[in-house]
Amino acid sequence: MAMKINEINNMTSPFSSTEKMPVLFLGHGSPMNAIEENEFVTGFRNIGKEIPRPNAILCISAHWETKGTYVTAMESPRTIHDFGGFPKALFDVQYPAPGSPELAKETQQIIQKTAVGLDQKWGLDHGCWSVVKHLYPTANVPIIEMSLDYSLTPQSHYELAQELASLRNRGVLIVGSGNIIHNLRLVAWDKLSSIYGYDWAKEANERMNGYILNGDYQSLINFQSQGKAFDLAIPSPDHFLPLLYTLALKEGDEKMSLFNDKIVAGSLSMTSLKIG
Ligand code: ZN
Repeated sequence: MAMKINEINNMTSPFSSTEKMPVLFLGHGSPMNAIEENEFVTGFRNIGKEIPRPNAILCISAHWETKGTYVTAMESPRTIHDFGGFPKALFDVQYPAPGSPELAKETQQIIQKTAVGLDQKWGLDHGCWSVVKHLYPTANVPIIEMSLDYSLTPQSHYELAQELASLRNRGVLIVGSGNIIHNLRLVAWDKLSSIYGYDWAKEANERMNGYILNGDYQSLINFQSQGKAFDLAIPSPDHFLPLLYTLALKEGDEKMSLFNDKIVAGSLSMTSLKIG
């Protein structure tokens, strides 16, 4: 009898079977969160201590958009400083976590809805390292990134993400990194580190949190038809889509908890989520 590809993977996977790992969505906010001390950084550190230590991390970052879906497959991903106008101290940060070509190949094999390419050029962008460094400061957990295919619909992203589910049983921590509310054009730059939200941002935040906690993911997948507050909160899908990757992995009656649930600079929410 022919074996299914997943069964073969399970036999050959370098990752042992584990308890089901939690799934995270991390609101990364300003790149300065990488080097500042604030309540959000404390929130990231606390989550890192709360959850079981992963065999590896798969991060879906708002900052890697491609035509087609790719996973980083190099042994040693570089730290990408994909921003401008920040202090030298931020450009000096390196996050030398190893990659995991094995996990990249396994991810490529379990996704059936689309072809997944193995990438040798990208690395870790700040959507990933600026937050993951607070969970695992010694950079000793292997990590890969998965890109966002800008040609897919939100529904297709959601369905693609569901195919990652089996990785949770192999000790892989799946992290979506973006910002649920993210309107840079309207950011109050003088309030970048202040807890402050415009009225539309507060409205969107309240409605989104309701949809998240009540399991109404279809309303979030259909974010483009939710009215003005959502249009202002999500002027482009890049920072929102990683949330759909996280939600797609919730199973049954798993626990969900929000943390860092604050709006800063008027139009950015730091709201983060743990499933499981
Ligand atoms: Zn960002």
